[in-house]
Amino acid sequence: DRARVVVVGGGFAGATCARELRRLNPALSVTLVETNPDFIACPFSNEVIAGLRDLSQQRFGYDAVTRDGVALARGTATSIDPAGRTVTLADGTRLPFDRLVLAPGIDINWEALPGYSPEAAERMPHAWKAGAQTALLRRQLEAMDDGGVVVMSAPPNPFRCPPGPYERASLIAYYLKTRKPKSKLILLDAKDAFSKQRLFQNAWAALYPGLIEWVGLSAGGKVTAVEPASLTFVTDFARHGAAVANVIAPQKAARIAAIAGVADRSGWCPVNPATFESTLQPGIHVIGDAAIMGAMPKSAFAANAQAKVCATAVIARLAGHDAPEPRLINTCYSLVAPDYGISVAGVYRPTNGQLADIAGAGGTSPLDADAAFRAQEAVLAAGWFRTITAEVFG
Ligand code: FAD
Repeated sequence: DRARVVVVGGGFAGATCARELRRLNPALSVTLVETNPDFIACPFSNEVIAGLRDLSQQRFGYDAVTRDGVALARGTATSIDPAGRTVTLADGTRLPFDRLVLAPGIDINWEALPGYSPEAAERMPHAWKAGAQTALLRRQLEAMDDGGVVVMSAPPNPFRCPPGPYERASLIAYYLKTRKPKSKLILLDAKDAFSKQRLFQNAWAALYPGLIEWVGLSAGGKVTAVEPASLTFVTDFARHGAAVANVIAPQKAARIAAIAGVADRSGWCPVNPATFESTLQPGIHVIGDAAIMGAMPKSAFAANAQAKVCATAVIARLAGHDAPEPRLINTCYSLVAPDYGISVAGVYRPTNGQLADIAGAGGTSPLDADAAFRAQEAVLAAGWFRTITAEVFG
């Protein structure tokens, strides 16, 4: 009797985990449940928004995943019975499992921002899931008159891709500088500090002087409501009308996590940091953006690393063994301009029930590098995207 593992979500975390499980144990039955026929990647989607890249370059299929012997179940997982060990899909298909891996990514937390809703996102896109939302924000920027004000909002921690809003502000500024030079960008932030802050702010001062206005929490940056009819952001201090409005709204683990009972009141999923097994539902593992990972950020790089550790742990548990204690690495590149890259790296290990940063093991790009160094990091960023997408989907 073959052991059965079901993986829900075919993104960076889930597709990696499904393939790794088959590689580690070719006798295992592995089923990957995924809603969409193709995956559309978020990393480098900010380049699409800035007109530097085509959305089609973000699209990846599942042929290589199935060639590894992973059974693909096209559909949406709508309920999970932890005690009976079955996943049910929207079309009624029931998939029994011995172990379940949930890798569903994020949902927008609509309740957390008054005025924001799926309908509002058609006027004020979040573009925090890649695809139609990415294309919508791109079209709005193209249609905007020179002199228009782009307003963006960035959410409180934790959220998908901590440097992402600042990379997006940078690349939209690049588009405005080169194509609509009378325009401006205001970034309203629910935080007073953000990832790679000094690197970003130094680069903004050098490349886009006067173009980007960042408003942190203490300066009144926290958006308390949005008004889609007039593209207005409301804060405790002011109202900001926009020509183009990008709402990077608060987030939570995707819906199926709460249905499975693995999300806590924060909306995210606490896990054992060595095995990624849920602390709320034994036998169910959660990886990628949906999980709380202590100091480890929500990134595609991290999702891929966690997926491999999780696969090893699932195999060990099925065999009745303990999993080895892992070390995990993350690197996040950001582009400030097409030829200007910056990065942050970290190494993590389980400590007191969380993944903790190993002091001194990571770091950021130097603050005082020359143009050639920044250009080299932009080349490395593109190389990273090619490599990870080839590994996960190729
Ligand atoms: P996802 O990749 O979102 O995959 C989840 C999958 O689960 C989806 O395919 C979804 O359709 C499926 N799913 C969900 N629920 C169900 C269900 N009930 N049934 C079936 N299927 C379901 N990371 C980096 O490392 N580097 C970067 O440069 C970078 N840039 C980014 C830029 C932007 C603008 C954004 C928004 C993100 C960026 N990220 C980057 C972050 C990265 O995209 C995420 O961290 C990563 O996608 C997380 O992987 P995941 O597998 O957890 O979730």
